[in-house]
Amino acid sequence: MNVEPVDILAFSPHPDDVDLGCGGTLAALARRGRSFGIVDLTRGEMGTRGTPEIRESEAREAARILGACFRETLDLGDGDLRTDRAAELRVVEAVRRARPRLILAPLPADRHPDHARAGRLVPEAAWYAGLAKLETGLPPHRPDQVIFYAAYVFAPPTFLVDVSTSFATKIAALRAYRSQFFDENSSEPETYVSSKGFFDGIEARSRALGRIANVEYAEGFVSNVPPTLADPVAAFLGYEGGKKT
Ligand SMILES: [Zn+2]
Repeated sequence: MNVEPVDILAFSPHPDDVDLGCGGTLAALARRGRSFGIVDLTRGEMGTRGTPEIRESEAREAARILGACFRETLDLGDGDLRTDRAAELRVVEAVRRARPRLILAPLPADRHPDHARAGRLVPEAAWYAGLAKLETGLPPHRPDQVIFYAAYVFAPPTFLVDVSTSFATKIAALRAYRSQFFDENSSEPETYVSSKGFFDGIEARSRALGRIANVEYAEGFVSNVPPTLADPVAAFLGYEGGKKT
């Protein structure tokens, strides 16, 4: 795996969670020249549909569409995501390899227990990655901030990212997960996430958040500290229908 230093490292409990939760933001950042990598914490081997091999090739294709520099898998155990010291050290190493300024993790209050565990494991390991005396063979590195994306549950966002111009790219990346999401030609058993209603819901949520931001589509994030705006005037331009330029 050719891991390189990136601006953003996005952690996904299962392949597809990160694409679903913040794929539009990642694609938008890539267009701005920000580099990002994706770390899948598990191979998704407990999923009702698909196999780990199919899911891996789908995840690779989705990462390519979003513009990721790399996508790696730590294989920490789907359906029983391990959060012990050994797992923590694997995440510490991933952070030290990629040396990101920003880390994305799922909300710790999410519905799937693996998501909730990932939401605790990643920020704790990201902190420990900065301890000089924690030796792993790689230099210490602490990211500037860990921010959380919503995979399933909704949480009032600390800030929104306009993904209007990258939303089609996000949908194209999600379509790469043919074994997981809605596909009228699939003969696999239907699950909640493979239903047409679920796929329609992705757009509905992005549109609802976009409505708040007065843009077409947005993704919401939760941060323990609010981001500092360089220019609040620019940040709210066009909110009440004024010109955005
Ligand atoms: Zn998941």
